[in-house]
Amino acid sequence: MVYVGRFAPSPTGALHLGSLLAALGSWLDARAAGGCWLLRIEDIDPPRAVRGAARAQLQTLRRFGLLPDADPWRQSARAAAYAVALRQLAAAGHAYPCACTRADLEAHGGIHPPRCVRPARADGAHAWRLRVPRGVIAFADRLQGPRQQDVHAEVGDFVLRRADGLWAYQLAVVVDDAAQGVSDVVRGADLLDSTPRQIMLQRLLMLPTPRYLHLPVVVDTAGLKLSKARGSAALPSDALDALRQALTLLGQRESAARPARSTTHLLEHALTHYRADLLPRSRAIAAPQSADAGAPRTLADDHSTRSAT
Ligand code: GLU
Repeated sequence: MVYVGRFAPSPTGALHLGSLLAALGSWLDARAAGGCWLLRIEDIDPPRAVRGAARAQLQTLRRFGLLPDADPWRQSARAAAYAVALRQLAAAGHAYPCACTRADLEAHGGIHPPRCVRPARADGAHAWRLRVPRGVIAFADRLQGPRQQDVHAEVGDFVLRRADGLWAYQLAVVVDDAAQGVSDVVRGADLLDSTPRQIMLQRLLMLPTPRYLHLPVVVDTAGLKLSKARGSAALPSDALDALRQALTLLGQRESAARPARSTTHLLEHALTHYRADLLPRSRAIAAPQSADAGAPRTLADDHSTRSAT
């Protein structure tokens, strides 16, 4: 089977060690399988985007020698494809307009009520939700093992397009993974809980389901996930040091007798000796002290808006 992997950062800030782990993990897994590796800038949420962040992220990856096989895609240019998918879902009765407020949802325990209490608003603004079918979605994560979720009971009807017109991450990621021919998704474990929603959408849109491998997220000394939006400490300025830190966290070993002297050599060595069975199976992993020094301590999370109804 052809292997197509990808790294899909949101341009919400500079890449940190956790991002590098996902980038390097997906690159290694793809290249070791003789596959290609793609990049996608997930810039569908302009209010959260930071000017210049996408360019800086691409530069950082280039500096590390993590080069994609094609020009990076930008989700901001993909609205037409998302609209087609939404129309397809709506035509099949799987999506419906909804103008429920956050308070409406809170009155139902945070989950959208079975019948929309506010199908329309005076000004016409409304979101589109997926009518989530009953049943459990199960999948086998290559690293985290068998997983399952009753999306209907635990998440409820989720948003595909927001009332302000912005596309939801869940729909965009599914449409783009399929359009880019992605066979293997390797990303952070913070997205493990999103995967059943994505598999559900793939099935309803009749798109293939890729294999999934969720790497641990990197947490700081307070146990908080490093976050681009929160401005977690930047990567070590020395690219070789940064790659070494990431490789160590990925459980991969460097030759003690002949330490690499350039990022190219380190990547070459890592690729020839890559062992997926050495990847850490936890959902979180601590950053080395030096990597999170100075990180601001707040409870806000990079993905806090993603799981919002
Ligand atoms: N854009 C997401 C992020 O920056 C990753 C999405 C994905 O890999 O599916 O964390």
